[in-house]
Amino acid sequence: MDFTDLATSRRGFLALGAAGAALASVGLPAVAARVATRAKIVIVGAGAAGTAMANRLVERLDGAQITVIDARAEHLYQPGLTLVAAGLKPASYTRSRTTDWLPQGVTLITQSATAIDPVAKTVDTSGGQTIAYDFLIVAPGLVLDHDAIEGFSLDMVGTNGIGALYAGPEYAARTWAAAQAFTENGGVGVFTRPATEMKCAGAPLKHAFLIDDIASRTVGAGKYKIEYAANNASLFGVPIVSEKVRMLFDERNIHANYSHVLKAVDAGRKVATFATPDGDTEMGYDYLHVIPPQRAPDVIRQSGLSWADRWTDQGWVEVDMKTLRHLRYPEVFALGDVAGVPKGKTAASVKWMVPVVEDHLVAALSDSEGTAEYDGYTSCPLITRVGRAMLIEFDYNNNLVPSFPGLIAPLEELWISWLMKEVALKATYNAMLRGKA
Ligand SMILES: Cc1cc2nc3c(=O)[nH]c(=O)nc-3n(C[C@H](O)[C@H](O)[C@H](O)COP(=O)(O)OP(=O)(O)OC[C@H]3O[C@@H](n4cnc5c(N)ncnc54)[C@H](O)[C@@H]3O)c2cc1C
Repeated sequence: MDFTDLATSRRGFLALGAAGAALASVGLPAVAARVATRAKIVIVGAGAAGTAMANRLVERLDGAQITVIDARAEHLYQPGLTLVAAGLKPASYTRSRTTDWLPQGVTLITQSATAIDPVAKTVDTSGGQTIAYDFLIVAPGLVLDHDAIEGFSLDMVGTNGIGALYAGPEYAARTWAAAQAFTENGGVGVFTRPATEMKCAGAPLKHAFLIDDIASRTVGAGKYKIEYAANNASLFGVPIVSEKVRMLFDERNIHANYSHVLKAVDAGRKVATFATPDGDTEMGYDYLHVIPPQRAPDVIRQSGLSWADRWTDQGWVEVDMKTLRHLRYPEVFALGDVAGVPKGKTAASVKWMVPVVEDHLVAALSDSEGTAEYDGYTSCPLITRVGRAMLIEFDYNNNLVPSFPGLIAPLEELWISWLMKEVALKATYNAMLRGKA
């Protein structure tokens, strides 16, 4: 295999990771010319997107004042949460320090952005500062609206047969405690997903598949039942993938409940209530996996940056889907989960979004026009068993866009695809954070 081609391939995010971080610096494009500027650039959020962006801008700009705002001292490798919640990795696998990833030459303000005024071009912080910007990159991710599920609270996770792996490393570990009890004792496992847009839409399926796989080898067939509650009439947003998942569910006796959206939990009775087109319905459970609705953080929704006529309950930022530039405030870009584009709430998307924003921002600082476009690329190593995954990659048009056509079939459960998720994805993610992939 030619690793240089691999590293420079359009879809190299996961593929490149196959050989780990060592490859991440191989075959990168020639270093672009640095641009001299005194511009004030503010990045809200130092997660996957904000950190990758800060590293790339430091490489491209001379003299810019780059300020990163984020109160969280920990950086979370969120793709690892699925592995923690299946007992395959410790919670520590997902944790590092925010400052480990930020480059020299940026100013980190360890506070939250509390208000953005896109007319005055300022950001207020929780510490009472007001920071002026020439360009703003909003990358605060999204918030998990656990309160939207009646009767549910995060302190239930890990006991009462309740899991919630999205909530962070500790909750993912507690999710495994509850799920493990189910795999040992059997009963009914109920797996849910929200009706809003969500990050890594494959994760609810991964959890169901993994717990089914483990239960089949511990408590054994006939002693447990898996109920999967899909929010609409399909199991995945891409029709051909949805059909493949339906076939796998059939093979494995996983029962799909379509158009079932979790609305309430009665932990005392171990009963979950779902909204359906025919009214509310109840399901008893021994293990319940909760993934709550997901929305843009309040600071975004209150700033006037959200779409006014799309996703009105969710508040994603109103950007051009190809350039990620705000449609009303051209000096504002949105990156990562908060961006109001039809696809792309994954780290793999962040990898392809960041160079696009870099191109348009650096062009604007040079009084020219950027040309890069984001095509909606997103990917999901959809784990189906311990040791098997399907490497699903697709774009805005739901086209499957495999990194290695002919080498890794997207709809086959392969060990190599598992390896990419289990081993290589983190190395590639880390390279992306450093602006090197
Ligand atoms: C369970 C799970 C599994 C996943 N699996 C995969 C996978 O297999 N492959 C994949 O590619 N992706 C996966 N993802 C998705 C991926 O982790 C996210 O899409 C990615 O982290 C998004 O990056 P982001 O920078 O937009 O948000 P984040 O990485 O969440 O970072 C947002 C940052 O903004 C900060 N912030 C929030 N509010 C404010 C504020 N008001 N002011 C300042 N800072 C703020 C936060 O503290 C945080 O540091 C998964 C996610 C989850 C939860």
